[in-house]
Amino acid sequence: MDKTKKVYKCPKCGSKNLICFMGFQTGMKYQCLDCGYIGPLKIEETETR
Ligand SMILES: [Zn+2]
Repeated sequence: MDKTKKVYKCPKCGSKNLICFMGFQTGMKYQCLDCGYIGPLKIEETETR
């Protein structure tokens, strides 16, 4: 049984309120709803429950 789930965290403030934010020519970006960070970096974490 797989009980892990992937979460993406903001590299700036560590918040999990990260949403996909499409850049036009730059590809995928992410926006943090907490600190307003927008960028290609995210922290990928695997959570186990
Ligand atoms: Zn943030």
